[in-house]
Amino acid sequence: MHELSIALALVDEVEQISARERARNVCGISVSLGELCGVEREALEFCFPLAAEGTCVERAKLIINEVKTEVLCAECGRRSNPEMPCMICAGCGSSNVEITGGCDFIISSVELEQDE
Ligand SMILES: [Zn+2]
Repeated sequence: MHELSIALALVDEVEQISARERARNVCGISVSLGELCGVEREALEFCFPLAAEGTCVERAKLIINEVKTEVLCAECGRRSNPEMPCMICAGCGSSNVEITGGCDFIISSVELEQDE
């Protein structure tokens, strides 16, 4: 399953951050999930606990922030959020648009528990 490898990569990256910060535990992870990044929210939520099992990330709460697709119109210069799957400008209806947001899956923040 595609999302399991994504979840494993996510856990791996958070483990590295945690090790670098000498944290005892990871309490929470916030990720930005772009509409176009190809990761399904439900599948990720399902796979995350499997990937985190037995690691310092095991008890972390995963917070998923969904990011809408954003396009910049080459005709009228407006930024808008198109209704997928139609990549057209909401202002003028042009399809001459550049995708400027919604493609990425990134870790936006990690909440660590430090030793006293
Ligand atoms: Zn436009």
